[in-house]
Amino acid sequence: MPLYEYECRVCKKKFEVLQRMSDDGSKLWCPKCQADKPKRILSLFSSVFSKSTSTACGPTGST
Ligand SMILES: [Zn+2]
Repeated sequence: MPLYEYECRVCKKKFEVLQRMSDDGSKLWCPKCQADKPKRILSLFSSVFSKSTSTACGPTGST
């Protein structure tokens, strides 16, 4: 199961949830203020990886 990060729309509390792909998060609520329907945050990992891979695949050493 993938791990998703959510942010509460009311108190801005961020929390992570292990969730099935088919679940849209509508049944989740904030652990701090119990507000429902938190906002899903995209993981920072995807953007970091796409940047680092572009520099890694170049020809090295010219003789
Ligand atoms: Zn909250």
